[in-house]
Amino acid sequence: MLLKTTILVSHRALTPLCGTSSAIQNAKQLSTYAEIARQRRSLQGRVAVLTASTEGIGFAMAQRMALDGAHVVISSRNQENVDAALEKLKSQGFSASGMVCHAAVKEDREKLIAKAVADFGGFDILVSNVAVNPGGGGRLMKCTEDVWDKIFSVNVKSSFFLVKEALPYMEKRGKASIIFNSSIVGFIPNYATEFMGAYALSKTALLALTKLMAIELGPRGIRVNCIAPGLIETKFGAAITRDERAQKIIKLNCPLDRTGTPEEMAGLASFLASDDSSYITGSNIVAAGGLHSSL
Ligand code: NAP
Repeated sequence: MLLKTTILVSHRALTPLCGTSSAIQNAKQLSTYAEIARQRRSLQGRVAVLTASTEGIGFAMAQRMALDGAHVVISSRNQENVDAALEKLKSQGFSASGMVCHAAVKEDREKLIAKAVADFGGFDILVSNVAVNPGGGGRLMKCTEDVWDKIFSVNVKSSFFLVKEALPYMEKRGKASIIFNSSIVGFIPNYATEFMGAYALSKTALLALTKLMAIELGPRGIRVNCIAPGLIETKFGAAITRDERAQKIIKLNCPLDRTGTPEEMAGLASFLASDDSSYITGSNIVAAGGLHSSL
């Protein structure tokens, strides 16, 4: 499906150039222009490292960045999930490698960075996509110290330190892009009060992390942006998408009147990784079907 889209785009761009000479000449021209179009993809030759990227939004981002020309290095906690995701990407003709990386474990993060350097000579794009909401969350005042520590360790601390660990490699590239994954509930915790109080707080922290890091890293040639998805159809999102109260929130507040898909987050991530967004940094971009969003 994804590959088919690329071919159609290239073909449309070439139609005026192909003329009416022989079929062979047309085919030759087509392959030449198709190759030019391929070389001009927005992330051609870039390298992207993504945490929590064997399924859901992270996998869709990896797949889209690969389609747009990047080599992608994917990761998650389970080897089988890494293997399955890699097999899928490779069977689609993409350049990918990957390994197990529990995002909250420093040694795992360092190994992931080392793998990107070993496999592709460095990297330009870093996506910290990881988050947890242990036990399905609940109201903030019910949050225990253990749950609080887990949420902030995985969702916020790991994102910050991943960037610190990656900086020496990213700075060398001249232009680099970091992308965090927050949530609409980072803006509007009201949507989350019943389901995910402390999680929402951690996602608000990511919005501020994005602003602060952008200020410090801009002069070093690194852009930092963040996506704030609405309710997206994934395994993680399923607990909420199936809940009647969440469906009511969507019905009453979402102009598009539906949940989103991982692919709808992936295009935005690829744009933020590319030079098309070269003057955008410190931005928290909401992709939530029009759900109201302001802190
Ligand atoms: P998902 O479909 O359930 O996928 C989660 C991915 O993360 C899997 O690849 C999982 O693989 C990996 N993972 C989980 N914990 C990890 C850890 N500690 N270290 C490394 N990898 C880990 O989830 P998703 O909905 O795409 O969520 C991805 C991001 O989007 C999260 O930051 C979430 O907060 C954000 N988000 C989601 C929604 C939504 O409605 N779905 C809305 C707003 C924001 P393993 O099990 O192999 O580790």
